[in-house]
Amino acid sequence: MNKQEYQFKFEVYDSIDDLNKEDAWLLSEAREVTQHAYAPYSHFQVGAIARLDNGEIVAGSNQENASFPVGLCAERVLLAAAASLFPKVPITTIAISYHNDNGQSNHPISPCGICRQSLLEYENRVKHPIRLILGGMEGKVYIIERAGMLLPLSFTAEDLS
Ligand SMILES: [Zn+2]
Repeated sequence: MNKQEYQFKFEVYDSIDDLNKEDAWLLSEAREVTQHAYAPYSHFQVGAIARLDNGEIVAGSNQENASFPVGLCAERVLLAAAASLFPKVPITTIAISYHNDNGQSNHPISPCGICRQSLLEYENRVKHPIRLILGGMEGKVYIIERAGMLLPLSFTAEDLS
């Protein structure tokens, strides 16, 4: 028997003001796009914005329905839109923000398990890492260099062959 170790490092910034211009703009857009969320059941509005390798910007927000909790997270709405509009174009960075019905949030949230799987698969299919910028409407910001790092010992297409 031997023990394996998985190291996970990410950057922590005190606020959006400490980010470089491009990253700050992307996070501010993610904050804006929370307004397009349809979340009458969870009252939890999430916005995601991607910058693609070709310079295009694609948005996603969570979309619920009456058979709650069946619904789509902002991250997977974004990935589906990006894949449909710009197939095979890598996503370089995704910023994700959120708030409650009062429009408030003060710490970063991280993608749910299903979205982690989808992000990893997107990285694998276009062979390009996706940077994540995670932040609320205010407060600290996390930057993760590769979304797949959020899913150690992941289950991938290679396991199916
Ligand atoms: Zn999710």
